[in-house]
Amino acid sequence: MSTFLVVAEQKEGAFRQVTFEAVAAAKQAAGGAEITAVVLGRADQADELFSYGADNVLHVNDNQLDHYTPEGWSQALLQVIEQVNPDGIVLGHTAIGRDISPKLASRLKSGLVSDVVSIEDGPVFTRPIYSGKAFEKVTIDDGLVFFTIRPNNIASLEKQEGASGSVEEVSVTITDLQTVIKEVVKNTTSGVDLSEASVIVAGGRGMKNEENFTILDELASVLNGAVGASRGACDAEYCDYALQIGQTGKVVTPDLYIAVGISGAIQHVAGMSNSKVIVAINKDPEAEIFQIADYGIVGDLFEIVPKLTEEFRKAAV
Ligand code: FAD
Repeated sequence: MSTFLVVAEQKEGAFRQVTFEAVAAAKQAAGGAEITAVVLGRADQADELFSYGADNVLHVNDNQLDHYTPEGWSQALLQVIEQVNPDGIVLGHTAIGRDISPKLASRLKSGLVSDVVSIEDGPVFTRPIYSGKAFEKVTIDDGLVFFTIRPNNIASLEKQEGASGSVEEVSVTITDLQTVIKEVVKNTTSGVDLSEASVIVAGGRGMKNEENFTILDELASVLNGAVGASRGACDAEYCDYALQIGQTGKVVTPDLYIAVGISGAIQHVAGMSNSKVIVAINKDPEAEIFQIADYGIVGDLFEIVPKLTEEFRKAAV
């Protein structure tokens, strides 16, 4: 029986939403093949993968894999791939997926379709090119169907409560790790993961200083969203580079993106132009961000943002 392998990703002991989206994407691309999910390291909730559509779940129980390292994960995955011999492999286009998938593809002598945003029968993959200015459609004529999916674009299957199966333990041999992660220290202003947030409030150089980012935190928290930033704001040390959105930062596709005091440089737009609804707040009516915004508010952000927070707070009550 042919199978598609989905590489699960976890954060703080829970699967990332993109893992469930990858199971759905694998089903779309697999044309009836089985879906096998593989969990590396700690796996408190491996069962949950069955309820999102996985037919089989493999678990590599080795605590050297609890935290991602390119060496550890690639050694483990190459051995799992050899055992399973899949027809397809799917990962999230996350920091991990972006890092490890080219490495695996080169070791497997396979092609790789990265950053897929939708899949049609065939399978035909759609992916953005030229920093999101255009889309291309890609098919794989022969060999392994290896692709990564952009978070938040392909819907996961509805959770089937009570779906279950048995998680199969798989052993691999990990040798000579040059890097060992001892501790991960969290360093973001919001608890919501930027690449999976459905609402993002992003600040630019117009925020003027680090303290003013508090008004963005407040707005994001009322909307249950995450705070992001332009590189202008990061360079000016208003916030951490982990928040940077754009060509050299994170690529995001939330349902709602509120750009606050951001001019709309092409490198920023490359990371957020596929957001479903874009709202821009800028005092310069000629700012380029208004060209891609669905709604524009021309004015002083220091007046507008607190008013928005207040109104959303009232609406939430
Ligand atoms: P600015 O361009 O300075 O804009 C600030 C805006 O705030 C202005 O439009 C102003 O009108 C508005 N403003 C000021 N005060 C107020 C107020 N009180 N109320 C309302 N509005 C106000 N940038 C990224 O963001 N992400 C990237 O990944 C990225 N990668 C890059 C890669 C390369 C190779 C290069 C060369 C550049 C990259 N950049 C990136 C930088 C990019 O070109 C811009 O310099 C940057 O996006 C500008 O940030 P900004 O919009 O916050 O600042």
